[in-house]
Amino acid sequence: MTIKEYVLLRKEQIKSEINGFKRKPFFAIVQVNDDPASNSYIKGKIKDAEELGISTDLIKLDESTTESELLKLIETLNNNGQIDGFIVQLPLPKHISEDKIKMAINPHKDIDGFHPLSTLSPCTPKGIVDYLKFINEKIEGKNAVVIGRSNIVGKPMAKILLKENANVTILHSKTKLEDMQFYLSHADIIVVAIGKLHFLDERFNYKPTAIIVDVGINRDENGLHGDALPNLKVRIQTPVPGGVGLLTRLALMENLIEVYKNGISNK
Ligand code: NAP
Repeated sequence: MTIKEYVLLRKEQIKSEINGFKRKPFFAIVQVNDDPASNSYIKGKIKDAEELGISTDLIKLDESTTESELLKLIETLNNNGQIDGFIVQLPLPKHISEDKIKMAINPHKDIDGFHPLSTLSPCTPKGIVDYLKFINEKIEGKNAVVIGRSNIVGKPMAKILLKENANVTILHSKTKLEDMQFYLSHADIIVVAIGKLHFLDERFNYKPTAIIVDVGINRDENGLHGDALPNLKVRIQTPVPGGVGLLTRLALMENLIEVYKNGISNK
């Protein structure tokens, strides 16, 4: 099943689940930038929510908002019983500490799953593993290589794959090319999340049975492109666009539903 088909199916299931709820889940987005990429991600999130019968509120603040003003707003949202979950769209202006903001969000409402005490998983890794499991890809005992070690993708991706009993290797910008070649040639599952256009190409040998999950988003005048050159000789390669981005969006909605069902504000 393609990612598009899977996402459509899950959305239908979530929609009918929400139909049975006694009130609509409510989701807020805080934006402190006017970045075109953020605007487009937020538009997608609001569209998904509306399609599923979820109420949304976009709180768009000026880039000159101070850290303490933003922290105050977060406290208000944490204490607002009407709001099931919320996110603060990244990136933030340089004068605001992303770590401080992530830590200020009540972990029970942190549907991005960034807070260390959050019981929810960050959306991109969660979306990927949920999909692999849905299409019955065995993860246990497989050699998984994650390229990239950011706190929002690479590291949580490696953690989730490890939880699923894969043999996990993390590679990064300091990995030597010959080591990269070695690990990739033994990999069953490759997750690339570095933001380097078509970094995975024919320089590397892949197992013909391998799966490449392309997280990368690289924009140019022709649109969006991944970190992997399309049509590499592997069994499955996720497309960009229409791949991991859709899984990430779906996982955000799934996290919200989980918070709604278990959450402190579900009265
Ligand atoms: P990030 O914070 O910039 O981290 C990039 C990671 O890639 C770093 O760990 C860096 O290594 C590594 N790296 C950079 N150049 C490399 C190279 N030549 N070889 C090996 N590793 C290299 O980025 P991020 O937030 O994780 O995002 C990564 C990409 O995924 C971006 O394109 C982003 O737009 C995309 N993304 C997509 C989704 C989605 O839903 N599809 C979600 C989130 C992010 P060091 O640690 O050594 O510097």
